[in-house]
Amino acid sequence: MRQFILGLDQGTTSSRAMVFDGEGQVTAIAQREFQQHYPRPGWVEHDPSELWSSQSGVAVEALTRAGLRPRDLAAIGITNQRETTLLWERESGRPVYPAIVWQDRRTAATTDRLKADGLEEEFRKRTGLVLDPYFSGTKLQWILEHTEGARERAERGELAFGTVDSWLIWNLTGGREHVTDATNASRTLLYNIHAGDWDDALLETLNIPRAVLPQVVASSGVCGEAEASHLTGVPIAGIAGDQQAALFGQACFEAGQAKNTYGTGCFLLMNTGAEAVVSRNNLLSTVAWDIGSGVEYALEGSVFTGGAVIQWLRDGLGVIRSARESEALAAGVEDNGGVYIVPAFSGLGAPHWDPYARGSISGITRGTTAGHLARAALESIAFQSADVLRAMHRDSGIELRELRVDGGACANNLLMQFQADILGVPVVRPQVTETTAFGAACLAGLAVGFWKNREAIAETWKTDRVFEPAMAAERTAALRRGWDRALERAKRWIEQGSED
Ligand code: ADP
Repeated sequence: MRQFILGLDQGTTSSRAMVFDGEGQVTAIAQREFQQHYPRPGWVEHDPSELWSSQSGVAVEALTRAGLRPRDLAAIGITNQRETTLLWERESGRPVYPAIVWQDRRTAATTDRLKADGLEEEFRKRTGLVLDPYFSGTKLQWILEHTEGARERAERGELAFGTVDSWLIWNLTGGREHVTDATNASRTLLYNIHAGDWDDALLETLNIPRAVLPQVVASSGVCGEAEASHLTGVPIAGIAGDQQAALFGQACFEAGQAKNTYGTGCFLLMNTGAEAVVSRNNLLSTVAWDIGSGVEYALEGSVFTGGAVIQWLRDGLGVIRSARESEALAAGVEDNGGVYIVPAFSGLGAPHWDPYARGSISGITRGTTAGHLARAALESIAFQSADVLRAMHRDSGIELRELRVDGGACANNLLMQFQADILGVPVVRPQVTETTAFGAACLAGLAVGFWKNREAIAETWKTDRVFEPAMAAERTAALRRGWDRALERAKRWIEQGSED
């Protein structure tokens, strides 16, 4: 009777639970926001107990809505905000410090020092990552150094480190399982993505005792059974970080397939198959998943300001009342009228990595209207994504055949058409754009035979709309030249070391 899969999606601002049927359709959904803590400038924390209570709360709610009991569930899949770092007592399950969130910059001085010591190349070769406070390793080191007695207790094996997936599974299994999967491990700066194990040399560099680390298990495979009352006996069978889960949920199973999530920022991942491509263009190499038949890898690049530029049109400029209105406003003009917005509000991410860049509007004339600004804002989302994809092409040599899309702003048809035009490849929007939770459900479903194989999952993936490129090549080239010129004006804007 086990006809459903539960996908738990523990995100940065909310916890979500979704029930899927065998066709991949959403049967029920529940969501709960939780509190963000900003104890100091640049610090971001979550309360671990709230992460767990909100997540288990929405799981119950989704099951109740769908009228299901634990015995109706074939498995649970878990996906999570990545890099967020927790440390807790094995004996009591009590956290020794709040969760340090991926956005937290408190370890910037540490990563600067490691860079100054010439260690970046070493970290990049072993982990696929760059040295940045974003990742878990230096956050864990910080907790060990700043919590009374933590280091000694960690060395004695009394403490457990985990990303959010580990924390949820620990709680779901009543403290029986201390595990993570390779996608989450690959975001810690501690995991060798080629060897598929924690890296002793890096552990030594960051002074992390092995005794705190979770066991790394497959992204698809039963790793425990839930004990929490409302889910008793249900196997936990899928784990992946949110972006990797979305790649899986988009059925990007072949090397060269890519997805872009258009949210506040944009997250692009391209499957590179069994090969971990070491980036020469400032992208990250990361584990896509380990579904038991060997690890597969992805290249990843993020754009800091994506859909957020539309929020700025709404809240900063006041030219629209809702994000949706941006489409009609932009459609009111024929083209961008020579106007380019570079929304480097907080610097530029991949592939430019310029923390000193700031936003710019170029090419304004007396004839510029709000319509042109709306168009330029939407186009900036597509240009930035195209820059990341160009870097992926340079790194991997792989020609993109199509781009699969999800996230809030993929509802914008004008943006999607422009993205196809500027890339020269079709942009494909699926019917179910809840790809993150779905991806976790797929990984779990695959492990317990709910879906026989990846082909069966690919069959549930259905197209909503394909945007075919329709722009002449000269026009595309001219637009990209304009964008590149505008970018130059935004880069290196504020003085190095200055905060404003
Ligand atoms: P997140 O998960 O990062 O909060 P979502 O996937 O919910 O983001 O997407 C929200 C973002 O998408 C917002 O920044 C919003 O401005 C943008 N957005 C939503 N709908 C549209 C639309 N129709 N056109 C353009 N942007 C949109």
